[in-house]
Amino acid sequence: MKIDKAEVIVTSPGRNFVTLRLTTSDGVVGIGDATLNGRELAVAAYLNEHVVPLLIGREANNIEDTWQYLYRGGYWRRGPVTMAAIAAVDVALWDIKGKLAGLPVYQLLGGASRTGALAYGHASGSDIPALFDSINEHLALGYRAVRIQTGVPGLGQIYGVADATKKGTRYDYEPAQRSALPSEETWDTRAYLRHVPTVFEAVRNEFGPELPLLHDGHHRMTPNQAAILGKSLEPYDVFWLEDCTPAENQEALRRVRSQTTTPLAIGEIFNTVYDYQTLITEQLIDYVRSAVTHTGGITALKKIMEFAAIYQIKSGFHGPTDISPVGMAAALHLDLSIHNFGIQEYMRHSPETLEVFQTSYTFENGLLHPSDAPGLGVELNVEAAAKFEYSTAYLPVNRLTDGTMHDW
Ligand SMILES: [Mg+2]
Repeated sequence: MKIDKAEVIVTSPGRNFVTLRLTTSDGVVGIGDATLNGRELAVAAYLNEHVVPLLIGREANNIEDTWQYLYRGGYWRRGPVTMAAIAAVDVALWDIKGKLAGLPVYQLLGGASRTGALAYGHASGSDIPALFDSINEHLALGYRAVRIQTGVPGLGQIYGVADATKKGTRYDYEPAQRSALPSEETWDTRAYLRHVPTVFEAVRNEFGPELPLLHDGHHRMTPNQAAILGKSLEPYDVFWLEDCTPAENQEALRRVRSQTTTPLAIGEIFNTVYDYQTLITEQLIDYVRSAVTHTGGITALKKIMEFAAIYQIKSGFHGPTDISPVGMAAALHLDLSIHNFGIQEYMRHSPETLEVFQTSYTFENGLLHPSDAPGLGVELNVEAAAKFEYSTAYLPVNRLTDGTMHDW
């Protein structure tokens, strides 16, 4: 059974998405997510110019061989653009294999290890009362775990905090903005470090000890600053502190790890297992934050999780809205099947997005389930996709108060 057709579909139902759609000689269709937030057209071009011509006529059943052909055979390895493109091919081939077998993908990965995947949502507020409202909204929606982020006194709009002026149009937090240039934010790490422990104290006092609370530092701290934050949060039983230092320096986590018992999560901008090699073998993290979409697909992320399992490291896959419903479904099939599942990030997609991507996964009592539909369980409505034209959108950039460029 050969791959007959490979189409790259760029659509923008509320935000930009790139989807690869493969059709086999038997007419079976599979889809994969290739969305790279703020760099969407680079992946679309990489697919169209360099990957699609290699796929036509290939055996659709040979997922592992195709992965190795695109990764090992390409000579220029790794990087977010390449690995998102490989992920899209890989996930589309798993979708096809599931449809051929008449089974959901998780059954092909070994079957269910749990009844559902515990999800966490993004609660945020410009101040603590607004954060409480957001936490209550999430609990009312059924969430049993939340990430908490607030504004920092003296700073304006910052990472992780929903823009209050967009209330009613957005249910959640969307950092990418449609504009010709990225917006600029201002950052002060010392002010942040003073503020965050007061937020956790207030939330624990209001919501009690049971609710799992997560927090994202978004790569802004030095190892020493991250150690200070980790220590200051220890009394509040944090589920994880995410992205505390710039992720490309794995050795930095040695310093953080040696100073605090607060659990650490990292990896949403990683592309391959090699980005994790030191972190996993030295047990410097507790959770793998990768997305299926940015790590070369189900084939590659399953291997990373098997490697992590040896060191008692669990999953916490990336799941913001720039992971399309196709990428989300792929994550859910892994979540359900792997032994070392931890938690799944889950921001709900907009109605426009769900018009284009028709999903079957469910969210009940705080747990996600990929559904038992054959394959991934997501269908792309090509006619609906054509209605939403791409427009440039960027993640913001970040400067210190004196204008110095800082990590966003
Ligand atoms: Mg993060």
